[in-house]
Amino acid sequence: MHFSRIRLTGFKSFVDPTDLIIHDGLTGVVGPNGCGKSNLLEALRWVMGENRPTAMRGGGMEDVIFAGAATRPARNFAEVSLHIDNRNRLAPPGFNDEDQIEIVRRITRDVGSAYKANARDVRARDVQMLFADASTGAHSPALVRQGQISELINAKPKNRRRILEEAAGISGLYQRRHEAELKLKGAEQNLLRVDDVIEQLA
Ligand code: ATP
Repeated sequence: MHFSRIRLTGFKSFVDPTDLIIHDGLTGVVGPNGCGKSNLLEALRWVMGENRPTAMRGGGMEDVIFAGAATRPARNFAEVSLHIDNRNRLAPPGFNDEDQIEIVRRITRDVGSAYKANARDVRARDVQMLFADASTGAHSPALVRQGQISELINAKPKNRRRILEEAAGISGLYQRRHEAELKLKGAEQNLLRVDDVIEQLA
């Protein structure tokens, strides 16, 4: 899967719809301080399902919506759309029917976030799993924010292991295992309750 285009609308400093074509090979983003380079990376992380406002350098998720400037009023929503080239059919089932996948995330003030995949409503979890299976995603170590290298050098071995898991392409499995464990715990609780009821009836 290859990202081929990203479109930002009302996202942080990108108030007007802005399209970026991502060609094969290495892409560099250059510009003066404060022009929005980090915002662009954050948009990429956000559309892949990031839900920690701190990872977006904000206090709340709505802080990603254009907050207004001297000459422009604030916006009511922010939207990021990511086009993925899926001609190699590496997307997981449910996403793998088409050559192109368009993932759209939109946040509206006082409403929250909604996701679409090729114009179909999907859950945040579906989008997160799509990218986790593709060894990328909002928490991918491939997205390196400012100050992260020194954080990594000082990181505990457990946190470093996450990077190896990502490289091995097992992050999606890890998340599924966590969900299976939660389900198992729920089932165990239900069994205990059933035992209690049987005891009462006996
Ligand atoms: P540097 O090279 O200094 O790291 P940068 O190019 O990475 O800069 P960013 O940090 O991406 O720049 O962009 C910062 C700009 O984005 C600031 O001018 C800030 O005011 C603006 N900005 C951030 N959030 C919003 C928002 N919600 N609404 C409007 N503007 C915003």
